[in-house]
Amino acid sequence: MQEHQLVDPYKRHLNYLRISITDRCNLRCVYCNPRSSKQKLRHKDVLRYEEILRLARIGVSLGINKIRVTGGEPLVRKGCCDFLEHLAAIDGLKDISLTTNGVLLKQNIDKIASAGVKRLNISLDTLNPEKYQQITGHDVFKQVWEGIELALQKGFDPIKLNVVAINGVNDDELIQLAELSFKYPFHIRFIELMPIGTTSAPVANPLLIPEIKKKIQILGDLIPIQKDINDGPAKRYKFKDAMGEIGFISPVSKHFCKGCNRLRLTADGHILTCLLSDICEDIKSPLRLGLLDNDLKTVFLKAVARKPFQHPENLTLLAQPEQMVSIGG
Ligand code: SAM
Repeated sequence: MQEHQLVDPYKRHLNYLRISITDRCNLRCVYCNPRSSKQKLRHKDVLRYEEILRLARIGVSLGINKIRVTGGEPLVRKGCCDFLEHLAAIDGLKDISLTTNGVLLKQNIDKIASAGVKRLNISLDTLNPEKYQQITGHDVFKQVWEGIELALQKGFDPIKLNVVAINGVNDDELIQLAELSFKYPFHIRFIELMPIGTTSAPVANPLLIPEIKKKIQILGDLIPIQKDINDGPAKRYKFKDAMGEIGFISPVSKHFCKGCNRLRLTADGHILTCLLSDICEDIKSPLRLGLLDNDLKTVFLKAVARKPFQHPENLTLLAQPEQMVSIGG
């Protein structure tokens, strides 16, 4: 029986948990996981699947009803699809989704579907294979695109394509990327580059949503879509007669913290209440000390009580090293 106990000091009901199941990734995106990557977590420091499932069940008993699985790259962790199946079977969970770079999508698509996942977020910053290699360090654009097309054929809905917009990198492709929404039912989501970690992307001259909007409106007027209860921070629009949607996520130009309903569980077992804050609660230690569910609930509640109202005003001051790849964006 769900209790809805996850209410923070600002009366926000936290019903959304993002779980990073690994800090490992098969790509080295310039904005996320730079080549000078830090040491990876030791195997023993990463939560085991049964530990994550137990924490997810506890979260659901407290009011979580939406879970997104992310990474690192979730599909590089062995057993990910079986884990998704167990996760989807948790009573009370209404929505389960997966964020992936798509590299291993093709070979896993049937298992992901039969696990019960219908919603996919796939990172795709360019339609140019050479540029894809420059951004990610790997020549796998074709493989990723085939995975996306297969996901479409298999009926995943929605398929959101996450585009981190970067001046001098993919600013010349915004229109082409937005145009995909005419041909496919994809949700193309433009995300402002967050200057966090040791990103090697050019953060000094950020490409912000108002400029992106202006550029792509050459394709037509952007018609706002009514906000849905399940919506995240994206502001949703549609071009007239388009099959898909356009979404804008603006962590830099416009905070969306006010309505934040999220908690994050990191691969090494910390509950994080804000992507851009280092306030967190270690839940792995009490879990491995053998504490009972009720005590672990207390750890959730402690984390929630410390959730900041918003992330710092000036994101350029952030200095957390390597954050994205280890906590999952
Ligand atoms: N490996 C998966 C993937 O590539 O989608 C999941 C993890 S990745 C960290 C999750 C999301 O974070 C991706 O959509 C990525 O584009 C976004 N992301 C990573 N670093 C970012 C940054 N510095 N600014 C904005 N978005 C970022």
